[in-house]
Amino acid sequence: MSAGHGAASPVRVLGKTVDEETRCAHYATALDVIAIRFACCGAYYPCHLCHAECADHPAEQWPRAERGRKAILCGVCSTELTISVYLDVDACPACAAAFNPGCKLHRHYYFQS
Ligand SMILES: [Zn+2]
Ligand SMILES: [Zn+2]
Ligand SMILES: [Zn+2]
Repeated sequence: MSAGHGAASPVRVLGKTVDEETRCAHYATALDVIAIRFACCGAYYPCHLCHAECADHPAEQWPRAERGRKAILCGVCSTELTISVYLDVDACPACAAAFNPGCKLHRHYYFQS
């Protein structure tokens, strides 16, 4: 990671990231710009596969009662969103970057329903 565009992210994203907007080896389309903090370790990863391949423990999902937690990072503007806000929007409320609608199919990897 080098200082490039915009403000440097204060949040470290683990896993197989391939650019500064948190795209990874698994998900690297224009819309794949978020990272998710995992309930098990509190670390941000770009996706569940990154966690599965890079963490040394099984992933845990956020319980419903924790939806007020900031656990989503917009890779474009580095704003952290709460889970409940993220589940309610199609784009970043801070910078308007569109989020991948396909991520909604993968919610169960990250959040208990
Ligand atoms: Zn973990
Ligand atoms: Zn990944
Ligand atoms: Zn943003």
